[in-house]
Amino acid sequence: MKAPFLFSLLLLLGVTACQSPRQSNQVTQVATIDGLLAGIYDGEVTLAEIREAGDFGLGTYQALDGEMLLLDGIFYQVKDDGSVHLPPPETLSPFVAVVDFDPTLYAELEDMNLEELKNQLDELAPDQNQFVAIRIEGDFASIRTRSVPAQSKPYPPLTEVVKTQPVFNFENVEGTLVGLRCPPYVKGLNVPGYHFHFITRDRDAGGHLLALEMRSGQLSADTVHETFTVLLPKNTMHSDDVNLSHDRSHALEAVEKDSTEVK
Ligand SMILES: [Zn+2]
Repeated sequence: MKAPFLFSLLLLLGVTACQSPRQSNQVTQVATIDGLLAGIYDGEVTLAEIREAGDFGLGTYQALDGEMLLLDGIFYQVKDDGSVHLPPPETLSPFVAVVDFDPTLYAELEDMNLEELKNQLDELAPDQNQFVAIRIEGDFASIRTRSVPAQSKPYPPLTEVVKTQPVFNFENVEGTLVGLRCPPYVKGLNVPGYHFHFITRDRDAGGHLLALEMRSGQLSADTVHETFTVLLPKNTMHSDDVNLSHDRSHALEAVEKDSTEVK
């Protein structure tokens, strides 16, 4: 009986060893924000592959077909008509960042707009050189989001696409914010500072966050300070096809901001 027992024990240890390496404290992202700004909307990595690197994150889909949230391991696609879809695992993404969400920071939030929320988060997670994955279950007096329409080739740069972006205004709505704060040194690779996507509690609407008035929110956050992995596109990012030597900070600002507020 001893041998089978030993074998079983080893098998058990083997299984445990496979499951135990934690992927938390790691941000994994596909491609670069400057590539996306330049119009590289063809993905080379599937949702199934991205899911192996985390269960929480945000990005976009093949051909810029809507805003992506990854929440509790489920990918949501907020299309430009405002509808929410559950894309199949073979769907490609040209840009996404994910973590294995393992929150260590919790707080109750009350009565704040987006700037106040960012200030509060800066106080709660003061080390700006760390990544912070942010989840907020909130009750919102108002919230404004946008999505982006799927593009066809030749792809226009993102600054052109967002000029026609549909904007969605919600009032008295509950839902989840999925956010990532990136350190300043990701410039060119991701979005320095805060980037949020929103989905309603019923998971039937949402988008890229532009503005909010939050009545209350339950924050959980995961600070990441160990590993930042970038999966480089093999086919779409050759310098013959796209020049990534420019500073695209202004383009990024134009794409991220709430243009409905700028006068
Ligand atoms: Zn976004």
